[in-house]
Amino acid sequence: MAFPTNDVSISDEPKELLFDKHVEYIANHGNDKNDYEYCMTEFLRMSGIYWGVTGLDLMYQLDRVNRQEIVDFIKKCQCPTSGGISACEGHDPHILYTLSAVQILCIYDCLEEIDTDAIGRYVSSLQQLDGSFFGDKWGEVDTRFSFCAVAILSLINKMDVIDLEKAVNFVMSCCNSDGGFGSKPNAESHAGLIYCCVGFLSITDQLHRLDCEKLAWWLCERQLPSGGLNGRPEKLPDVCYSWWVLASLTIMGRLHWISAEKLQKFILSCQDVETGGFSDRTGNMPDIFHTLFGLGALSLLGDKRLRKVNPTFCMPQYVIDRCNVKPKIITL
Ligand SMILES: [Zn+2]
Repeated sequence: MAFPTNDVSISDEPKELLFDKHVEYIANHGNDKNDYEYCMTEFLRMSGIYWGVTGLDLMYQLDRVNRQEIVDFIKKCQCPTSGGISACEGHDPHILYTLSAVQILCIYDCLEEIDTDAIGRYVSSLQQLDGSFFGDKWGEVDTRFSFCAVAILSLINKMDVIDLEKAVNFVMSCCNSDGGFGSKPNAESHAGLIYCCVGFLSITDQLHRLDCEKLAWWLCERQLPSGGLNGRPEKLPDVCYSWWVLASLTIMGRLHWISAEKLQKFILSCQDVETGGFSDRTGNMPDIFHTLFGLGALSLLGDKRLRKVNPTFCMPQYVIDRCNVKPKIITL
């Protein structure tokens, strides 16, 4: 019996990485402060900067954006009361943007520009009795926030401010019978959340708690005939899932369980030949989020024009080395 597949066709795709176009696409992003898209994305400005800066650094073009402007912006976004960092001046701090800010400052090698003790206190204040984390003071719980917490704390070298054992137990309580993870206990497995939980276990040196065979099987079933990867059964392929799925498989030492060649073809087909940048799938409008995750996935696949990316942090490997952070990877 054949199951209907949600997929796309990619007949006349660009076959090469449009390197220079992507550099221009990212470097010019946000130059026009009146641009509609720029104004509409204020609520995720900090992450937008992280996606752009990381993408440029992976292409050896970090000097294409103004470092001082970005660092000054981050400093203005740290909340003097809670210590957390917001997406944009005047917004409430959130653990997602706090991670983005810390990642950018690590890339620029200037963590001392912000108060990292206050960040440690902020992250610790978000941990709950069951070990889970709120994303902000409004109290939503999600395994994404558990990942953000340990990623931030390992980058600023303050892992001891939280109850790590409880944090690990909470993440493991979100593991499902298919080997995957959801956003909270008993929530459906989803590739983005699997990446967060596998990344969490990589940072906390707990990868032995995974059922790697089962989970890697579920992940490689995400590859569709077009070569693209989806995030859940029956969904369309999407470039950002190339990153979530591939990074998880890489951490588990099982990158070779999917067809790299077909995936590369799919990712290259999502490039915009005119403006540069990657879209979620062939023919759609590019955006900075899918551009970073397209480049990141190509780096994991070994593209020689890009710097090596760290699969746990989605940051250049040389930055992770310089921070002396050692997320674990399974080698078979
Ligand atoms: Zn996507």
